[in-house]
Parts: sequence; C-alpha cells; structure tokens
Amino acid sequence: MALDPLTMLTISTALAAAAALYLAVEWRSIRESSLLFWSAGFATITVGSSLALLRANGYPLIGIWFANGLLVVAHWLFLLGVARFTRRSLSRAWYLMFLVWLALLLLPEDPSWSKIMLVANSLLIAALMLRASLLLRPHGKSLSIGAVQLRYVLLIHGLFYFAKAITAVLPGTLIDLAAFRGTIIQISLVEGAMAIMLIALSMTGTERYRREKQIAELAARDPLTALYNRRALEVHAPRLLDQVSSARPGALLLIDIDNFKLINDLYGHTAGDRLLISLSEMIRSQLPQGALAARLGGDEFVMLLGDASHEQIMVLGSELREQFQQMTSQSYVTPEAVTLSIGAKVFDQPPASLAALIEQGDSALYESKRGGRNRIRLADCT
Ligand code: GH3
Ligand code: MG
Repeated sequence: MALDPLTMLTISTALAAAAALYLAVEWRSIRESSLLFWSAGFATITVGSSLALLRANGYPLIGIWFANGLLVVAHWLFLLGVARFTRRSLSRAWYLMFLVWLALLLLPEDPSWSKIMLVANSLLIAALMLRASLLLRPHGKSLSIGAVQLRYVLLIHGLFYFAKAITAVLPGTLIDLAAFRGTIIQISLVEGAMAIMLIALSMTGTERYRREKQIAELAARDPLTALYNRRALEVHAPRLLDQVSSARPGALLLIDIDNFKLINDLYGHTAGDRLLISLSEMIRSQLPQGALAARLGGDEFVMLLGDASHEQIMVLGSELREQFQQMTSQSYVTPEAVTLSIGAKVFDQPPASLAALIEQGDSALYESKRGGRNRIRLADCT
C-alpha cells in the first residue's frame, strides 16, 4: 500500500498538537507536573513533525536532523513525566546518555551518517520508553488501570523503536530519510500517528484514574480521624461478615465516649477534636489484622472483627477502656469521668445486615450507659 508520507506527517502534527493542548488543559484542572512534561513532549513533536515537512523542500538539516532531534527530546520529556508520576528519580546515566547523543550530532557527515543517526536515535528512544515502562511497573501497591495501559503502550512503542534500530542495520535496508523512502520509514510514520493517540489517551487516563482513586479514598474517610466513615464500613463489611461461621465467630464493638460534652464545654471544641483523634489512634493500635474500624459520627466508633471470641472481646474492650481512662484522667479535670462505654456483640453466623448488627450493638451500648458507664456489655449471642 502506498502511503503519502506528507499526509501522514500532517496528520501526526495535528494529532500531536491536539494531544499537547488536551494534556495542558488537563493540567490546568489536575495540576500534576507529569501532565506538563507530557504536554511539552507532544508540543515538541508538533514542532518536530512540522519541521520534518521541510525536508521535502530541500532543507535536510532542519527537516531531518533537527526534526529527529526534537523527537528524541519529546521522548525524554515523556520519561521525565513518568518519573514525576511515579515519584521516582532518574539516575545520572540517563542525563549522560543525552549528552553523548548530542555529541553524535556533531560527527562529520558521510554516507553512513544517516544510518548511524537513525540507529542511535531509535535505540535512544527505545531505551527511554523501556525505562519509562519499567518505572510504571507496580511497586508494592497495584497500579491503576490507566497506569497499566500507559505502561504497555510505552513498552510496545519502545520495542517498536528497538526493532526499527535492528532492521536499519540489516544489509540492503533502504533508508532514504530525505525522500521518506523505505518500508521502515513508511511503517514508522503509521506507528507514529497511532502512538501519539494511544500514548496521549493513556497519559490522561493514568492521571484521571489516580485522581478518582484519591477522591474515592477521601470520600471513604472521616476527615477528623482518617478512620473509615459509615459509608465505607458498609462497603467493606460484607466481605468480612460473609466469612463468619461457628468456627470463626465475628464480633462488633460499639464505642461511645462518656461525658464527652464536658471536654467540649470546659476545654473547647479543639480539645474535643484532639480527644477524638487520640481515641481513634488507640482503636487503630488495638485493631487485630483484617478487622475494620470506623467513626460512625460524633463520639461513636465501631470495631468489626472477623475472627473473635467472647474472651478476646472482653480483653480488647477492657484494654481500650483502661487506656482511655488513664489518658483522660491525666489530661483533663472534669466533674464527671470521661470514659468509654462499649456495647459488644459476638455472632457465629452472618447477620441479616450491618445495620441490624449495629442496632444490636447499640442496645448493648445503651445497657452499658444505663449500668453506670465506663463498662462493656455483651449482647446476647444468637
Ligand atoms: P454520653 O455520656 O451520654 O455519651 O454523653 P456525651 O457528653 O458523650 O454526649 P453525646 O455522646 O450524647 O454527644 C456527643 C457530643 O459530641 C455532641 C457534640 O457536641 C459532640 N461532637 C460531635 N462531633 C464532634 C466533633 O467532631 N468534634 C467535637 N469536638 N465534638 C463533637
Ligand atoms: Mg458520648
């Protein structure tokens, strides 16, 4: 199939300009510096491919070497953007490689120069893209869908340039950069247009997915204590509740501060906030692995355990109560003790719903309050 190289280049120029603009607009709302680097990369490609159009008009230096140089710079900017996105730094070798490549540009021109430069440029782009793809591999935490897409798009793009470098050195390969002749150059033009689209799309997806994850994470947390809120507990509880059996009973602890209003009234709302944060830290430190904790609202907290016994719950509740009482009695002087009342429920089959379970815990909590506060009361086992 005969492709008109100038049309292909014009399409690539337009796509790169659109990508640069799109990523810049995205940056205006998200303000992640990686987007700026990527946008600058596409802007560089826009300039480079516009200059490449000049080679057909007899400007080889600008149309071939300056344009290809800009293509390398653009891939460099892509790698820097990925490094920003992954919050990783690049070793000095990468900057050094860039300088070596610049020195290559000064080599005297001879018939093989064209091939050497094509191979050097392709290898450099391949290395930059493979490094970027490697930076995006998961580090402990799993990657978002967007980052996985970007990782593979960059990997394939890098491998393409690697293959391009290899084919360029094969004997008999036709490379006529000035006239865009040769199969490699034609395929490269098609790959270029496709790569611009795919890379730009996965770059915006990458940041968007991360942003959405951050927003979802914020929406799931109580802003004061950073514990889960009620909605997040409702989302995560079913997985834990469904695993409950007589061999692995579950337990719920509903915790409410006694006379909390006194702290607000006597020491101010900020002191009250600090106390809520301290209690949340105590809850977190006592939380067994795999268990859930949430702030339901006001001074009410909940702990949900997947594998517990009556004894364990009594010990856990007492430790929490004692630790809390010790802290409040040392820090505040109040007409009535600021302590913890706990209502607990141990269950050996999945409850009808989390709400039903909380209701049972609430009754036990009410019993604790009625019984004189600063105690733990277990609801009947069903
Ligand atoms: P009881 O012993 O019966 O539990 O009474 P209490 O004084 O602890 O008060 P109660 O549990 O009935 O009400 C909780 C109070 O906590 C009501 C509200 O003024 C206060 N509160 C709710 N949310 C916050 C908050 O985010 N920060 C602070 N400082 N106070 C809060
Ligand atoms: Mg209270």
